[in-house]
Amino acid sequence: MPHADCHDAMDRLLTFNEAVTAALQSIQPIYAIEPVSLLDAEGRVLAADVLAHLDVPPGDNSAMDGFAVYLSDLRQGAVTRLLVVGRSLAGHPYPGPVPRGVAVRITTGALIPEGPDAVIMQEQCRVDPEDAWIEIEPDIAARLRPGENIRQRGEDVRAGTVLLPRGRRLRCQDIALVAGQGIARLGVVKQPRVAVASTGDELYEPGTELPSGAIYESNRYLLMGLLRRLGCIVTDLGILRDDREMLLQTLRHAAAHHDVLLTSGGVSVGTADLVKDVIAELGRIEFWRLAVKPGKPVTFGRIQDCLALGLPGNPVSVMVSFLLFARPLLVKLMGMEPIEPMRWPVLADFAFRRKPGRREWLRVQLQLDPERKPLARLYRTNSSGALSSLSWADGLVELPEDCANVMPGDYVDYLPFSSLGAE
Ligand code: AMP
Ligand code: MG
Repeated sequence: MPHADCHDAMDRLLTFNEAVTAALQSIQPIYAIEPVSLLDAEGRVLAADVLAHLDVPPGDNSAMDGFAVYLSDLRQGAVTRLLVVGRSLAGHPYPGPVPRGVAVRITTGALIPEGPDAVIMQEQCRVDPEDAWIEIEPDIAARLRPGENIRQRGEDVRAGTVLLPRGRRLRCQDIALVAGQGIARLGVVKQPRVAVASTGDELYEPGTELPSGAIYESNRYLLMGLLRRLGCIVTDLGILRDDREMLLQTLRHAAAHHDVLLTSGGVSVGTADLVKDVIAELGRIEFWRLAVKPGKPVTFGRIQDCLALGLPGNPVSVMVSFLLFARPLLVKLMGMEPIEPMRWPVLADFAFRRKPGRREWLRVQLQLDPERKPLARLYRTNSSGALSSLSWADGLVELPEDCANVMPGDYVDYLPFSSLGAE
């Protein structure tokens, strides 16, 4: 493609980092907040810090089933026998202080009664069949330390500390932590409304009959799923024909009612590639074309307050440009803490020829070699149309702009799909 190369040389493409930085700067996070109950909070984004107002645990309690004792009651060099004077069960504490020279039976999670300073495990005592007394061998007694098997009040969470920061995307374990504070509702950021469209005269819905020369539409199934997993409210605009008037009308209307417009196809340089022009006519293009592969024609613009993201049409370009480019923008819009995907150093199990210049992502599967070193394997074809490669891969290898040919055994950066929200 001598023409394209010549064009590249004349007006330099934006690098990936320049593009992401510029786009991020132009995005204001959504400030509208709504309350949700804990059962509806998974995946939502905290609108404010959540402060702990309780110590967890609320009092010193036992980490084991056993007996609460005074360490100083245990004899050196001889067996100690202690009377068992009562029980402290989870939810049923022992009432009042414990006199010296006796033991209290205690279960896991039960409050340590007033007085004793250690819990001895049941398995480490000889217990009277009637539970009237216990005996402790001197070597066991010698090893018991003050506070042993006792969970201190507040050792998990201290009242007054930040339990979770604003911007945290709530996972199940975060919600469990909040529940432990007795909090039943949380203030979360309102979800962005994202309209998704696929463009192209050749596209038909699955379940319909396919005319010759046509293909089934697949990009919306990918994009809508990724958006929902991220926590967006998705409107399906369906398949849009390569028709300027119709695109103008549909995209104008969608932009007025959504925070983000996400399209695929129609941003390249063919005669039917109308999406970019339509965005420009309805609003403005901030930039178009990045020094990346795949996904070079990515378009970023605005139609009034609506972000307009035009992804290329090839399924692989769609997935890669969504995960690497669109996703960080949505993350900022959603008020989330920035998330850099994990980049793990792994060994290339392949040779790959390329010229430095663009940032490039390859679809790979990770395997362990006989020495348990991680090896990245390449898919059988590097075509950006190959949907099968996306289904086959478990992640991407990222080659930076200045990287030239890759040889087997070279270290490369691996980005698991799981760290990009595409598990
Ligand atoms: P475009 O960017 O519109 O030129 O499309 C690039 C390539 O991706 C063409 O081969 C299209 O047929 C294909 N393509 C575009 N949109 C879709 C889609 N929604 N599903 C499957 N393939 C698509
Ligand atoms: Mg097209």
